[in-house]
Amino acid sequence: MRVFNFNGGPAALPVEVLEQVAAEMLDWRGVGMSVMEASHRSKEVAAMTAEAEADLKELLGLDGGWRALFLQGGASLQFAMIPMNFAPDGAPCDYVDTGLWSTKAFQEAKICGADARLAASSAEDKFVFIPSEFDFRPQARYVYLTSNNTVRGTQWSSFPQDAPAPLTADMSSDFLSRPLDLTKFSLVHAGAQKNVGPAGLTIVLIRPEFAATGRSGLPHLLDYRTYIESDSMYNTPPVFAIYVAGLVFKWLKGTMGGLAAVERRNRVKAATLYGAIDGSGGFYRGAARPDSRSLMNVTYRLPSEALEMTFLAEAKKAGFDGLGGHRSVGGVRASLYNAVELKAVEALAAFMAEFARKNG
Ligand SMILES: *Cc1c(COP(=O)(O)O)cnc(C)c1O
Repeated sequence: MRVFNFNGGPAALPVEVLEQVAAEMLDWRGVGMSVMEASHRSKEVAAMTAEAEADLKELLGLDGGWRALFLQGGASLQFAMIPMNFAPDGAPCDYVDTGLWSTKAFQEAKICGADARLAASSAEDKFVFIPSEFDFRPQARYVYLTSNNTVRGTQWSSFPQDAPAPLTADMSSDFLSRPLDLTKFSLVHAGAQKNVGPAGLTIVLIRPEFAATGRSGLPHLLDYRTYIESDSMYNTPPVFAIYVAGLVFKWLKGTMGGLAAVERRNRVKAATLYGAIDGSGGFYRGAARPDSRSLMNVTYRLPSEALEMTFLAEAKKAGFDGLGGHRSVGGVRASLYNAVELKAVEALAAFMAEFARKNG
């Protein structure tokens, strides 16, 4: 039996996609083997990868001024690749610190020798909100932010319009959860395992013009131009993960009806759960400031840590998986990625009401 999966990542995938993967496991596209066994230089894998890029760009409405690339190394490698390419030799770059992953990205930029500085931070308030005022430097080569803070449960609802440099963002945990206006952006990265597919794949959207401004002389795999010039095939790419992500893109375009429809559905799911929290008479308390609440990762607390332990244990027994908060903060976190169905969220809300009634 499948559980209600609220994992933070790796996380729920659409059943329809998993069924197709199962059906094609022994013979993919009539080649007489699974996609994992096919050469990445075969015309079928090349076509599949090109199709995945085209579907992804179509979903996001990206024009010829963008490439969608398939890398490895996780979102964490992007923390280093971005400064290595775009802020070499102590060049300035501005960061917005909204929690664990952006803190790591900022520290990594310093390790890479960039003159990285914070343009805003919500650290002093335990990262419960998204800043709205920024101290950008005009000479910054780029501005870096994290669109959705998986650990704290905060999310940018709109992005700075007045930044003096191109925006770059880690969108790992809300990628493809809503339509995106990328006008001000030059690079977006996302680890696949939150909202797109299996671990092992990192998606990078980049403007080739921006890539061209990168420092030269980097090792091939650390230079974005390598992936652009080779259509993400310089070395063996994560073929299976690209295959599954490609099926998810088709599911988003087809069954789900595109990103505007996906966002509407995600808003209903989030409203259902925040409604259960806010309507509990204070038994459950949302961890993020209401104006910064994430539609993807809903974080909340109970009256005591002991009750939180009981809640998590009973939830697990009742078939709700992955509700423990990130190990750095504790509490409860329900991740409502695209593949999490409304009925799972409604079941969780009902379970929470019953738990509060018994323990309140
Ligand atoms: C999970 C996560 C990461 C880390 O991703 P890896 O692929 O494990 O490196 C980075 N940023 C955000 C926003 C995340 O949610």
